[in-house]
Amino acid sequence: MKVLVIGPGGREHAIVRSLLADPNVSEVHAAPGNAGIGKLVPTHAIDANDPDAVAALATKLAVDLVVVGPEAPLAAGVSDAVRAAGIPVFGPSKAAAQLEASKAFAKEVMAEAGVPTAMARVAATAEEASDALDTFGAPYVVKDDGLAAGKGVVVTNNRDEALAHAQSCFDAGGTVVIEEFLDGPEVSVFVLCDGRNTVALSPAQDFKRIFDNDEGPNTGGMGAYTPLEWAPEGLVQEVLDRVAQPTVNQMAHRGTPFVGVLFVGLALTSRGTRVIEFNVRFGDPETQAVLARLKTPLGGLLMAAAKGELDKVQPLRWSRETAVAVVVAAENYPDTPRTGDRIRGLKKVESIEGVHVIHAGTKLDDEGKVVSAGGRVLAVVALGTDLVEARERAYDGVELVQLDGGQFRTDIGGKAARGEIKVKTPGAPA
Ligand code: AMP
Repeated sequence: MKVLVIGPGGREHAIVRSLLADPNVSEVHAAPGNAGIGKLVPTHAIDANDPDAVAALATKLAVDLVVVGPEAPLAAGVSDAVRAAGIPVFGPSKAAAQLEASKAFAKEVMAEAGVPTAMARVAATAEEASDALDTFGAPYVVKDDGLAAGKGVVVTNNRDEALAHAQSCFDAGGTVVIEEFLDGPEVSVFVLCDGRNTVALSPAQDFKRIFDNDEGPNTGGMGAYTPLEWAPEGLVQEVLDRVAQPTVNQMAHRGTPFVGVLFVGLALTSRGTRVIEFNVRFGDPETQAVLARLKTPLGGLLMAAAKGELDKVQPLRWSRETAVAVVVAAENYPDTPRTGDRIRGLKKVESIEGVHVIHAGTKLDDEGKVVSAGGRVLAVVALGTDLVEARERAYDGVELVQLDGGQFRTDIGGKAARGEIKVKTPGAPA
């Protein structure tokens, strides 16, 4: 099987790496890729958000499958163009990608499908926003309705700050979704969908804020680990039964079947499991950790989803180890990151047992040296017999990465490793 992977980030590097380990995958290409991907497979410098350019490349390369990584090409209709060219594609159509591209649309589908989520209101004016903030009370949750790479959400106790965020979205010509605050630990579950059937991957937890202890602004994600020893038994089945399958059924009923990953972001609240958000692609950096444990060959799995054959797939096989991914970001991220700095020490990092490096914002400079080229530069991914060992290995690796101004969180998986995450299930004593 010949596969083309679309996207430039860490998620795509992890996908390429797993595809290369699938005995049925003979050749992998990537577009545009990054320095790490370029060391593994041929890369093609096209505009990944241009549907015609992607379809033309896939046709020229005569690939059997296209895997679309990020949300932007999906929202631009890349999958539709590839499908129209007669090539199987793992990734939703433009219409189905609205589940991520519009938070208001996602809420509408969740309501139709009876999916448990936060109560919410759409606001288009300062007055409506003000009214909605008072309806739900503090802490205030204000979300830009459009795609914002995980950075369009403000959660705050400060009403003025909440209103100011809403106003900045209105000024940019958008609307906002204002919703009730969900307490409790967050979980990401990736569900593979083929338009009808659903198969869940192992749950992960990610770390959205830039600083330790969940302080500072939201980022695309600063680290992740999997599996979640503390998650309630039956969580995955609950997500399939109450969230993913009803959503997939509803999308099919609407005539816009969902093919790809339905990324279910959940809060395990004291009132039960609630969906925080849907994304329509693998999460980054959760994917780096999740795929490190997946033993079922990835190419066959994604092809089965693309062809509507997930019901023929055997139960997934997983490593018994725990995986941790720690992101190293550039100075000043999540604001305009500093780029163009040399990155050294990566070979040493990979000499640690169970550790590998996934590139995100990297490229080769004119001399062929690896330099930073984005906000999240790379992730150190480690497997260990348990979370404590995986964390130790990951942080040993991070310490060896040389990047001027590089920043990382020191507490990825820390609370869980110390047994400090508690899920308050409804009805249980406080
Ligand atoms: P989203 O882009 O919707 O995933 O939101 C980004 C982050 O904001 C989430 O991972 C949560 O940490 C936080 N968040 C979003 N919605 C809520 C909510 N209703 N209650 C509490 N936190 C939220």
